[in-house]
Amino acid sequence: MRHAPAYKSVSGWNALLPARDVRQDPPATRRFRNIVIGAGFTGLATAHRLAELCPDEDILVIEAATLGESASGRNSGYLLINPGEPSANATDFTDDWATRQMAMVQAGFDLLRTRVKTHGIDCDWNSDPLAITAAATTRVEKSARETRQKYQEWGLSPREYDRKALTRIIGTDYYRYGLQSLTRALVQPAALHRGLGDALPGNVRLLENCAVRALGGDAPYRLATDRGEFVADRVFVTNNLHARFFGIARNRMIGIYTYGAFTPELDDRDLDLLGEEPDWGILPAHRMGTTMRKTGRRLLIRSGDSYEREDAPEKARAMLTRLYRNRFPHMKTHDLEHVWGGVTAVTHNGRFTFGQVRPGIYASAGCDGAGVLRGTIHGTLLAELACDSRSPLLEERMKMGGPDWLPPEPLRYIGASTLLMLEQWRAGKER
Ligand SMILES: Cc1cc2nc3c(=O)[nH]c(=O)nc-3n(C[C@H](O)[C@H](O)[C@H](O)COP(=O)(O)OP(=O)(O)OC[C@H]3O[C@@H](n4cnc5c(N)ncnc54)[C@H](O)[C@@H]3O)c2cc1C
Repeated sequence: MRHAPAYKSVSGWNALLPARDVRQDPPATRRFRNIVIGAGFTGLATAHRLAELCPDEDILVIEAATLGESASGRNSGYLLINPGEPSANATDFTDDWATRQMAMVQAGFDLLRTRVKTHGIDCDWNSDPLAITAAATTRVEKSARETRQKYQEWGLSPREYDRKALTRIIGTDYYRYGLQSLTRALVQPAALHRGLGDALPGNVRLLENCAVRALGGDAPYRLATDRGEFVADRVFVTNNLHARFFGIARNRMIGIYTYGAFTPELDDRDLDLLGEEPDWGILPAHRMGTTMRKTGRRLLIRSGDSYEREDAPEKARAMLTRLYRNRFPHMKTHDLEHVWGGVTAVTHNGRFTFGQVRPGIYASAGCDGAGVLRGTIHGTLLAELACDSRSPLLEERMKMGGPDWLPPEPLRYIGASTLLMLEQWRAGKER
């Protein structure tokens, strides 16, 4: 088990941005009141809220990579309030659970929107996105229609799209049914991630390119890192899947890698083949399906799932090229300029590890493929928990329970990879 992710290629979103000054100079002091491990959306939200609640305390955020390069800067930029993956009609999904989840995630969205506005973060925030959950097969269309029925029961009335409307919007007749998705905004994720890091309050120190390699003893805690030892009274473990390395949720999360790619900038002719709307997003109605975005003059495509290991970039490229060609056979070429993988944490019941795991050690982990807003709200509530700042939302979070136990290896590997293969096969044309 690695202590931190080590990706095989850079994030395409981050590669599109200008170079930035990485904050990698170690601080003069080694002793902090609070240390946050991991500066993804969860860790940054924790640091922001801690700084607000304890303006007189110092906070060190230690990040193994650089901002824009972790999963937080590698995702597809959908700010989703979906209660879970993607069919609301899944068997163990009660209406009560779903609406409580959505209220919590919506709070994450409101928070992020305010932060982006207050700090003027330039991340191509589109709050009126044309983002559609689409089905290519009759079986998945049926399930998407059932999802819509559920949404209606929750007081939402998402628009529907038939094949003709979809073809006009996105330029391919690949999909037979579409449902307006519960996407509150589309963003440039690496720009958002960087912007949030740059907006950290004055009492927060960010240290990038520095992995925590051990977290030992009792309070005050000693953290062994790439730049020597740091000591803290309180530690916030917000490095998602890699919390397992510190013995947290070790038997409750698995790592699933998924893959994204950008085309080069397209010329006018090829851009026209992506439909008449200037930008759009397609989310899969099947959990093993493919996400796309038309953004700027490029197409983003994301798909594929691998258990605990990142596939070679050439393999990911071949898979994404095939899916791109299937959907848009008439493009001049199917070249991809950037291809990257990213890891997410998957739990059996979709729930998070959240709370004080040892005296003075707080953790939030379990962000899956729709974790930008969930990470934001969980990180915020984690700081509130540590500072005893009670709120109805925190009470609600404390009642939500955590992830189920998973069987040990090799049973876990056999179970998870068999399920992945089966689901990929069942997904058929949805992939
Ligand atoms: C290709 C792809 C597409 C996705 N699309 C979407 C989407 O459209 N919408 C959505 O909501 N979600 C999406 N996701 C999921 C989303 O990116 C994650 O749920 C989210 O990034 C989780 O945030 P986090 O802060 O909890 O974890 P992370 O973003 O993984 O952040 C954890 C941080 O901890 C750091 N770290 C790890 N170990 C250590 C250590 N030992 N020491 C120091 N630092 C450490 C990591 O470098 C990382 O920066 C996607 C994910 C991928 C991979």
